[in-house]
Amino acid sequence: METSPYNATVVGKILITPDLMVLRVKTDEPRNEFQAGQFTNIGLMGCELRSQNSVIPMESVQDDFLIQRSYSISSANHETQHFEFYISQVKSGQLTPRLFNLVQGSRMWLDTKIFGIFQLNQTPKDCNIVMIATGTGLAPYISFLRSHMRENDNTKMAIFHGAAYPWDLGYLSELQFIQNTFPNFSYFPTLLKPDPGWTGLTGYIEQHLDSGILEEKGIIVDPEKTHFYLCGNPKMVTSVCAFLEKRNYTKHTKKKLGALHVEEY
Ligand SMILES: Cc1cc2nc3c(=O)[nH]c(=O)nc-3n(C[C@H](O)[C@H](O)[C@H](O)COP(=O)(O)OP(=O)(O)OC[C@H]3O[C@@H](n4cnc5c(N)ncnc54)[C@H](O)[C@@H]3O)c2cc1C
Repeated sequence: METSPYNATVVGKILITPDLMVLRVKTDEPRNEFQAGQFTNIGLMGCELRSQNSVIPMESVQDDFLIQRSYSISSANHETQHFEFYISQVKSGQLTPRLFNLVQGSRMWLDTKIFGIFQLNQTPKDCNIVMIATGTGLAPYISFLRSHMRENDNTKMAIFHGAAYPWDLGYLSELQFIQNTFPNFSYFPTLLKPDPGWTGLTGYIEQHLDSGILEEKGIIVDPEKTHFYLCGNPKMVTSVCAFLEKRNYTKHTKKKLGALHVEEY
């Protein structure tokens, strides 16, 4: 009798850099339909090998322990048996070095449940949407665009994606393609360490929010008119929240509706 908890198979692995990847997984059984922006849990046993470029952590894990962590889903919400994730390797972490060692056909565990109130279709139909991410915090927005882009042609949408180097901009070509195809969508890749030839935004995303760049696209920073979504690095989240709270934004929670939606990694 099989005792392994594994219930899914790796069907694709795209290394964007040695520490950043898109992982595609097929579950043995379909999941329930979910909302773009939600997350699920991925697991691997402690006995799985770590990637060659990882660092041995201080604490070891038992071979028969299922290491589980949460990951935002980047695939469209109607795909209930094929899931895509955008994952960065924490070299001294427990799960990600094992995930980076997986190959096509490897088995793994994927939670049967999908979670989270960070759901991008909660914006009223007549409001604009600004999505801000650092690093892999982009994943829920990719799910949103893949699920709902064509239904939102009356609203203006923008993504700011903060990364260190140009090669850290996962999904660049997909986002450029959407920007070129849909006039209501703007993509602002923002680099901390740009090449000399870089013509996009630089520095921290929050520097650009009151520079007029959004207003140029017809997006007004007003909770009645525009909802903001923030996902990723806690420092970015704190600093953008402070900027928006001064402009009368309140956080969206399970109990209270707000125009500021936050997911921290
Ligand atoms: C709701 C939610 C959604 C998430 N979605 C994603 C996602 O889409 N993609 C993704 O890559 N991650 C995502 N994460 C983070 C993920 O769950 C893990 O925390 C991360 O992958 C590290 O796991 P690990 O087992 O390798 O490291 P751990 O063994 O858990 O951590 C080792 C140490 O590294 C620190 N650490 C954790 N994360 C980072 C980091 N990113 N950079 C530097 N140090 C870190 C921890 O504080 C800890 O001290 C999400 C987290 C949450 C809560």
